[in-house]
Amino acid sequence: MTDTPQPGATLANGWQWTAPFAQLGPAFHAPMQLQPLPKPYWVGFSACAAQLVGLDATTPTNPAWLDVLAGNALAAATQPVSTVYSGHQFGMWAGQLGDGRAILLGEVVPPAGVNSPAQEVQLKGAGLTPFSRSGDGRAVLRSSIREFLCSEAMHALGIPTTRALGVVGSPEPVYREQAETAAVVTRLAPSFIRFGHFEHFSHHGLHGELRTLANYVIDRFYPQCRTATSYQANPYANLLAAVSERTAELLARWQAVGFCHGVMNTDNMSILGLTIDYGPFQFMDGFDLNHICNHSDHQGRYAYARQPQVAYWNLYALGQALLPLIGDEHLVEQALTPYQTLFPVALDRRMAAKLGLAQVAEGQRELVSALLRLMQAERVDWTIFWRRLSDCVDAGGPGDTRAAQPVRDLFLDSDGINHWLLQFLEHGKQHSRGLDASLMLKANPAYVLRNHLAELAIQSAQRSEFTELHRLQSVLEHPFTAQTGMERYSDFAPDWAQSLTISCSS
Ligand code: AMP
Ligand code: MG
Repeated sequence: MTDTPQPGATLANGWQWTAPFAQLGPAFHAPMQLQPLPKPYWVGFSACAAQLVGLDATTPTNPAWLDVLAGNALAAATQPVSTVYSGHQFGMWAGQLGDGRAILLGEVVPPAGVNSPAQEVQLKGAGLTPFSRSGDGRAVLRSSIREFLCSEAMHALGIPTTRALGVVGSPEPVYREQAETAAVVTRLAPSFIRFGHFEHFSHHGLHGELRTLANYVIDRFYPQCRTATSYQANPYANLLAAVSERTAELLARWQAVGFCHGVMNTDNMSILGLTIDYGPFQFMDGFDLNHICNHSDHQGRYAYARQPQVAYWNLYALGQALLPLIGDEHLVEQALTPYQTLFPVALDRRMAAKLGLAQVAEGQRELVSALLRLMQAERVDWTIFWRRLSDCVDAGGPGDTRAAQPVRDLFLDSDGINHWLLQFLEHGKQHSRGLDASLMLKANPAYVLRNHLAELAIQSAQRSEFTELHRLQSVLEHPFTAQTGMERYSDFAPDWAQSLTISCSS
């Protein structure tokens, strides 16, 4: 970090701005002008994410960075562009979308010796772009806070995600259902390329550009696809298979932690298998397979239990987009099979860890299904159940009446849960190492970003009080560690949380 504020903030020694995506050519993006936001102020900053771009916790003391993150000034050597993509939304072809309110500043490359990938830096909510369609190019404070908190919370949970460097607010009015105020989130990721980028060029028959994009992604992120002998040594089929693998792992992690994305359109699917575009997402409170977190999703297309199948649907759309490069429909289908093979395996592994087992054992699926039936019947809180089960194993195991009581207390069906705890005990005995509480405490978070916690932080921030937001951010940085005095962040959702309605409007 620079010590003294200076216009056009620069990066610390050795950290460099580059713009490889901007160099792909005009078919891929539009150059951007800055559209200043009045009176910017800091809302949040992630010192953890800052390390990825050579910044540190002192950054918010530097007014030059406030201007850069508000989109009011350019950091030295940036080349701002907005990228074009298309996509399927709610199962229908939606045509051209693109970065309607995001500007890609460029990419920050670490100096030699720093072992972290280069990061693209994107300002979301930075104003109108050629892809804004009927939108205003802005984002409101509430949705920006949700994206900021959740990006960093997901990272702390070990779930692949785009990151959030910070949020800057402004009194500038933004009109949604009512008048609100503007904010900009600075997002970081090795790439923001989506399935929809490929769909865009494929749909328009721009096969040269499609190939350029695929080669860019392969060379930078999946170089092994060039030399792989699988899928008839076709690099594009190998790319599809590699993306399928990463997406399978991502979905297993979402399901295990009870995360609902809410808008799994193909334009919201990362080619790197990252969680991207935090909108009406939710960590489930009470367990419900049919839980719908997005109040605009009237059909429940993106309900919790449907997410894995929707991910496959989206991969299929990516496969169709890559067909002109792969050249063989049959090969496309083959390259999608890793998803169907790996998702159940990845989910079994996640569930084994949640159950305190280092390996998946016979009978696990039956054990989990029996549990889900009990939880579904009473909408038992997903996060609290698993954490209490972990504490139970830590305190003596499911066979210990006192240790198991907090788990039993979650169910009205005491026969049902008693029977299940016995099954769980027996299942654990099949393993030489038995049930491992430390594994469970690392797989079952105490703290997740529940809707009501985000809402309380947002309400304070809307009154220009940021202590609650910063405390919540700091609790979520260590989701697996019980933190003294922070019990209310791991407690049940209050009744009023049920009436929170979160939609695509942001
Ligand atoms: P999302 O539902 O946030 O993934 O957005 C879908 C598409 O709408 C993307 O192309 C966004 O860039 C665009 N979009 C969303 N909100 C706005 C806005 N306020 N102004 C311009 N474009 C927007
Ligand atoms: Mg989106």
